[in-house]
Amino acid sequence: MPDSPSEMSKTVRNVLVLGSTGSIGTATINVLRNLNQVDPEHHWRLWGASAHSKSDALISIQSEALTWNPHCANKTPCRLLFSDKDLGNAFLSSHPHIPKATVGIGPESLIEAAQNPEVDAVVAAIVGRAGLESTLAAIEAGKRVGLANKETMVVAGPVVQKMAKTTNAELLPVDSEHSAIFQCMQGGTNRPKKIILTASGGPFRTWNKKEMSEATLESALSHPTWEMGPKITIDSATMMNKALEVIEARWLFDLPAESIEVVVHPQSIIHSMVEFEDGSVLAQMSPPDMQLPIQYALTYPNRLPCDSPAFDRSQNWGLELEVADRERFPALNLGFEVAKVGGTAGAVLNAANEEAVGLFLDGQIRFTDIVEGCRDVLANHHFESNPPLSRLLELDRWARSELRRRLKAS
Ligand code: NAD
Ligand code: MG
Repeated sequence: MPDSPSEMSKTVRNVLVLGSTGSIGTATINVLRNLNQVDPEHHWRLWGASAHSKSDALISIQSEALTWNPHCANKTPCRLLFSDKDLGNAFLSSHPHIPKATVGIGPESLIEAAQNPEVDAVVAAIVGRAGLESTLAAIEAGKRVGLANKETMVVAGPVVQKMAKTTNAELLPVDSEHSAIFQCMQGGTNRPKKIILTASGGPFRTWNKKEMSEATLESALSHPTWEMGPKITIDSATMMNKALEVIEARWLFDLPAESIEVVVHPQSIIHSMVEFEDGSVLAQMSPPDMQLPIQYALTYPNRLPCDSPAFDRSQNWGLELEVADRERFPALNLGFEVAKVGGTAGAVLNAANEEAVGLFLDGQIRFTDIVEGCRDVLANHHFESNPPLSRLLELDRWARSELRRRLKAS
């Protein structure tokens, strides 16, 4: 996190969006389009965009960006980065006239782009551990990083923070809860006494354990308040998303697990809260829409008009806060446990969860197997308290195969 506000000084701000075709990626493109209208002093330029599938969507992003990038020198189109090599090669063969210099192929092209001296800010919006290397590359190059990819902090929080300190990279949260906490923290000079993460409770907030054991994929994908990619939507249904966010908060704000709480707030209007020493609790509120935290990460310390929907204050608010039920949602216990012990635990939990969610999405395991499988893998790994990145990546591979072995999945 930045110690003190620094404003990107250049007039043209080159932004690289990693994972541009996803839910956060699409919202980021909207934010850049909006900024070019509301911030006449700067030119917010989409410098590059990556995708792992959907090459058509990537091309549309590029051509649409040219319509709101009018001040770009020579109207240079944004670079297209294909993290999947086959997709990139297929794209090049079907577009023989496209200048090769504007295309990058393979995961290494994302790393190079994240470190390109022309790039001012990187929005890390790839889903899962696949986003780790490119996010770390941006931090190593001392960029401003809008961090949506929470898995990077879960896997390697201490490594990330150490690197950011050395390079003066500015790590700004995009996750709505962490953005809320970051915003509220500016209301106090001391470290907060507690941070209170809010959780919508997901589609199974009122379901009992038996009902959850029979949950279908369709019901797990029906989130009541947020529209997101499939992996985080399933994480929200198990409340593993909140567990990952507890771990993310532990490293992002350098606070012990004991200073972090979770409350359920079904309306997703209060995005999180901070309690200070004097008992004052500050909350950040806005309708559930990711454009606001994304834009704030890009424009911080400034606030500009945002294209997010405004509050409808003509209706009763009916804001509710409920105690989180750790018995029905045991993922929360895993999150607090991992935030407490640190070390190798985050990498193992994250990998087991990614693998289990993939199996559930493929229809191979039951909904409740996800968290049970994660708990077993975590309990059976050889814990180390101060692992280097290479060890975390080794354990990531181990946890995936261990999860499959335990759940007897193919
Ligand atoms: P998504 O599935 O909608 O999009 C994921 C993006 O990552 C796509 O552009 C895809 O092409 C790319 N991608 C997928 N696999 C890849 C790989 N192996 N290598 C490189 N790129 C790959 O996901 P999302 O919902 O936008 O979430 C992205 C990240 O943001 C996640 O870490 C999620 O936890 C976090 N986040 C999302 C939201 C939200 O509202 N969607 C909110 C907070 C945090
Ligand atoms: Mg969140």
